[in-house]
Amino acid sequence: MTDKMISVPQMQPCLGKEEADAVYKVVESGWITEGAESEKFSRQLNKMIGCDYGVFAPNGTLALYLGLVAMGIGVGDEVLVPDTTFIASANAVIMAGATPVFVDVNRRNFQIDVADATKYLSNKTKAIMPVHLYGMIANMSEVMEFSSTHDLLVIEDAAQALGVHYKGQHSGTFGDVGCFSFFADKTMTTAEGGYVVCQTEETYKKLLYLRNQGRLDRGSFVHPEIGYNFRITDMHAAMGLVQLKKLNWIIQRKHEIYSWYREQLETQKAITFLEIEPGSEFVPFRTVVLAERLEALMEYLNNNGVGTRGFFYPLHKQPCYQYMVEEGRDLSDENYPNATYGNKHGLCLATFPTLEREQVDHVCKMINDFYSR
Ligand SMILES: *Cc1c(COP(=O)(O)O)cnc(C)c1O
Repeated sequence: MTDKMISVPQMQPCLGKEEADAVYKVVESGWITEGAESEKFSRQLNKMIGCDYGVFAPNGTLALYLGLVAMGIGVGDEVLVPDTTFIASANAVIMAGATPVFVDVNRRNFQIDVADATKYLSNKTKAIMPVHLYGMIANMSEVMEFSSTHDLLVIEDAAQALGVHYKGQHSGTFGDVGCFSFFADKTMTTAEGGYVVCQTEETYKKLLYLRNQGRLDRGSFVHPEIGYNFRITDMHAAMGLVQLKKLNWIIQRKHEIYSWYREQLETQKAITFLEIEPGSEFVPFRTVVLAERLEALMEYLNNNGVGTRGFFYPLHKQPCYQYMVEEGRDLSDENYPNATYGNKHGLCLATFPTLEREQVDHVCKMINDFYSR
């Protein structure tokens, strides 16, 4: 095979006949909405994550919304959100009626910078939302100390952090609530799906009321509270149960692929690997690196069959949030030097489990070729 013929997409979900069969079985059973399969999926998720309570949401964005509202966050409240993240982290805060306040990230691994968060504290600050980005995890010792010093709630966005641990503890279980996503490009998928874990029975009850029309039981038409519909379906859950069985293999395989990249790119001076937070166990969601002359490199890779992706566009630069400048917020690049740096140099390389050695070799060869020209 010549190099030209190898193509490497950015992401491919790892699905097979097992998932299709599991979904078919649910269809055949006649009970397709949330039921026995969902209950089983929830039990297994709790066991794997190591928490007592968890509820589903239709997707990760709504999981964040549910978690925020269950913690009483709403109109007039401010939530500290890292500047480098998928926009859903901030938009969920808006959806809850509160205001996201953007905090710069650190330069080591682009997770929320707690030291920078201090300058955004106000009497409206109600919560901090660490986002565990790219399969790494924020320094949760620092986040938890900061939140207890300033009496803040902690909403963890762990959409990209299934299987990720800090000091032996699973992501999402440090804060008051932790939110996961099972979107098609996440470590494990149910096509669409979300999950909220929490620490106390009190929060769990609030989540149940909110997601089930303000009641605890289906079939009861007396509603003590105002709630909504955040059900998933047993078809999604059945798929999730199969994916959960594959999870260890998926994670192992991602590590293997990451090691192939490291092997071939570590000596490349124009490429820098991120520093994994000490004490954490990461899962290479993508292989993320900092690259010199990023734009030209990405163009070269795309021309050679390699799908590329930069880091998330910083929140402070998002067109939809520029209205905040008129409200007196300083959203200049100088205020967010690390997120701005990440936007200029951050590169995500494909790390999905069915990727083959030959494809990774091709990506590395193209990168090394580019820098030796
Ligand atoms: C995917 C993702 C979300 C949103 O999850 P959806 O299931 O797509 O709604 C939120 N935050 C982060 C960091 C994500 O990667």
